[in-house]
This record gives sequence, structure tokens and C-alpha cells, in this order.
Amino acid sequence: MARRRIRLPETEDGTVLFNTDPIIIKDHYEIDYIHSYAQDSPFFAGLANRQLLGSRCTKCGVVYATPRGHCMEDGTKTEWHVLPTRGRIHSYTTCYFGGQAFLEETPYTLILVEFDEADTLFMSRLVGAEPDEAHIGMDVEARFRRNSKFNATDVYFVPMD
Ligand SMILES: [Zn+2]
Repeated sequence: MARRRIRLPETEDGTVLFNTDPIIIKDHYEIDYIHSYAQDSPFFAGLANRQLLGSRCTKCGVVYATPRGHCMEDGTKTEWHVLPTRGRIHSYTTCYFGGQAFLEETPYTLILVEFDEADTLFMSRLVGAEPDEAHIGMDVEARFRRNSKFNATDVYFVPMD
């Protein structure tokens, strides 16, 4: 049986090679991605309206600062719950690398915020303070982007005076 000679066509273009060990090349990546926030939509609409929405269990009353559709304790469907915009840092970390949206802001401080009225924490960024100024228990206040991008980064926290 004759061996079939199947080959992909070769191209004339190349790529930029920055390093050989390990190989580091320049590449381009771009995609328009249309997706639904579905049941999470009120959270993002809330950010656009300068409101932080958590969720509250209609059975046991647990309040989730990071909203959940159903209670982790008893599985009951939750309802939306307006959180206060003031809280305090529960823990924090300094990020020296991040996703494309934050690369120009490194190092930045990622924080877990605790609220008096919530039983769980909310992850966000601390803005307006140097990384070494962040501390556990620091009072912080939410700020919202004026032009909402309907993204979790529409909210961030700043130190309270
Ligand atoms: Zn519950």
C-alpha cells in the first residue's frame, strides 16, 4: 500500500522569538465573547447603581457577601440583600502580577472585606493606599466606577478617613 503524502501548506510568516529556553514568543489573542450573567445579573446591575448586593437565605438568615443563589447551609433559595458600603479588611495580599486588566497597576492589594451585616467575605481591591499601608481591621469604603462595565471590577475599596 502506497503511503499517502499529506502535508499542511507551509506559510511564509513567522513570529517574534524573545527567548529560546524556555521559548517565549509574541502572540496575539483577541476575542469578542458574548455571555449571560443569568441569575447573577442583579449583582452587576447593582454595581452600576452604586449598590453592593449580597444574598440572604430566606430560611436561616445567613447573609452572603459574595452572593449565592442557594444557601450553603440548607440549600434554600436566597434573596438579594443590600450590603453596607463600609466594612473592614479581614485579610489582604499584595499582588505583583495579575490579569491584563491589572498589569499596569501592579503591585496592587487584594482584600477580603468583612461587613457587620454579612456572614461571609467579599473579595475586592484596595485602592488609594500603598501595599504596606494595608492592615487587618482597616476600615474601608466601597467606590464604584462612574461608567459601569458590568464587571466585578466596577467596585473597589478605599481607606476610610
Ligand atoms: Zn440557610
